[in-house]
Amino acid sequence: MKKLIVANWKMNPQSLAEAKRIFEDVKKSLKPEASKKAEVVICPPSLYISNLKSQISNLKLGAQDCFWKEKGAFTGEISPLMLKNLGVKYVILGHSERRENLGETNEVVNLKVGAALKKNLKVILCVGEKTRNDDDFFNIIKEELLEGLKNIPKTSAKNIIVAYEPIWAISAGGGKADKPEDIFEMAIYIRKILFDIFGKDAAYSIPVLYGGSVNGKNAKRFLEIEGIAGFLVGQASLDPGDFLKIANLCPL
Ligand code: PEP
Repeated sequence: MKKLIVANWKMNPQSLAEAKRIFEDVKKSLKPEASKKAEVVICPPSLYISNLKSQISNLKLGAQDCFWKEKGAFTGEISPLMLKNLGVKYVILGHSERRENLGETNEVVNLKVGAALKKNLKVILCVGEKTRNDDDFFNIIKEELLEGLKNIPKTSAKNIIVAYEPIWAISAGGGKADKPEDIFEMAIYIRKILFDIFGKDAAYSIPVLYGGSVNGKNAKRFLEIEGIAGFLVGQASLDPGDFLKIANLCPL
């Protein structure tokens, strides 16, 4: 199975010219062997998507969110069909920054997951605990998966990707990357929950990504973890040189 390396630019950069430059730099220097072994996805702010579309070639486009309604009076929102019509293949849903800053609940995330899957977008569902200090963090992941994927038909499992992003490990909050052995353990746990939801085949086939302070220096040791299919990369994805160090590790 191909690895999946996803860049989450968040609310950056501040100009289209800069977005085009980062995109072009990644595209130019992504090694052909890496594009064969990995799908490299750039998730820019939605505003830039149509401008970057003509540049895609060896890269794929993703969005950082979408709304759950198909169309209508929903000021400021973007529908899954709009993304699909622009050539977007992936959508990140349930990112911890949206859960935290915009109050997105598992219920809202579930509505968005359902709507995006209906339009055949590939959903990158983010799950992650705030802290490792309590004993309850496995239950938080379980709840985010059970509720986020509630009533999603098994036939949609092929379009689901789970990104495990412990919130305390995300660089924007001053976090440090998780330990490989703990990521390995969590990947097994996530698969067990996916097994309970969708059954065996889906549990084995749904890619599980890791996200949280991945960069060019530490990516190799995470990519070697069995059960980890790739990364969701925040901060490092805005530096084409660093991001390429991660993406060009594939094949590994
Ligand atoms: C993220 O917020 O999705 C993320 C993984 O960020 P970073 O790589 O900067 O920790």
